[in-house]
Amino acid sequence: MRLLKTEAIVLKNNLIGETDKIATLFTKSYGKLQAVAKGARRSKSRFVNAIRTFVVANYVIFEGQNYYYIDQWELIEAHKNIEKDLSKFSVASYIAETINKILEENQKSERLYLFLKHSLKAVDELQIDPLIFISSYDLKLVSLLGYMPQLDNCVVCGERENLKYFSNSCGGAVCINCKNKCFDAKPLHEVTLKAIKYFLKGDYDKLQNIKVSVVIKEEVDKIITAYMKEHLEIEFKSKDFIDKLQNM
Ligand SMILES: [Zn+2]
Repeated sequence: MRLLKTEAIVLKNNLIGETDKIATLFTKSYGKLQAVAKGARRSKSRFVNAIRTFVVANYVIFEGQNYYYIDQWELIEAHKNIEKDLSKFSVASYIAETINKILEENQKSERLYLFLKHSLKAVDELQIDPLIFISSYDLKLVSLLGYMPQLDNCVVCGERENLKYFSNSCGGAVCINCKNKCFDAKPLHEVTLKAIKYFLKGDYDKLQNIKVSVVIKEEVDKIITAYMKEHLEIEFKSKDFIDKLQNM
């Protein structure tokens, strides 16, 4: 029987059997895995809080014949504010879902793990417009996965001025002279480009109290969503989800 000792973040949990739950954990040392918490559906179970979504904890997990089982756990971070605030909860759910979709079973990435941990802490502790938070998170995520858009220079010729277009296939900003060299180049407002740069490069704490108009926020979101779809080949957001966030 193999024993795994690792820090992990709970991405989601489901019911299994009559009294148990199974958690999808992103472990720091072993990647994504499913672990059963025996008896976790009983209200007095010692595992009730161990598998709450967004919890960060140290776990001792043993490998059974068909499943992993949580044996012991010790809380590191409960993220209490996320549970109490619907807007924070929606953002955190989106974050956990994207990471869950990206990761294959047993796929390990310490960089992605630390990014997830940092992002959840920011959702919990900071007051940031939910759509701005998600745009910033998306940009940081695609960049971490190796698809950072080029925003300071034209992706085709390197020109720094007149960046008035954006192309998913070329991978970033395109100047007026090169717009025909990227078939999907779309007009880009100067303010939108500025916002995208700021959301990508600034840490989350720089996003508190910034004022961005609804039009720009939506344009940024549209560009990033299409860019992620092009490069990660996954669609993460439903239109309903974005509308819901806008109204929070
Ligand atoms: Zn150019």
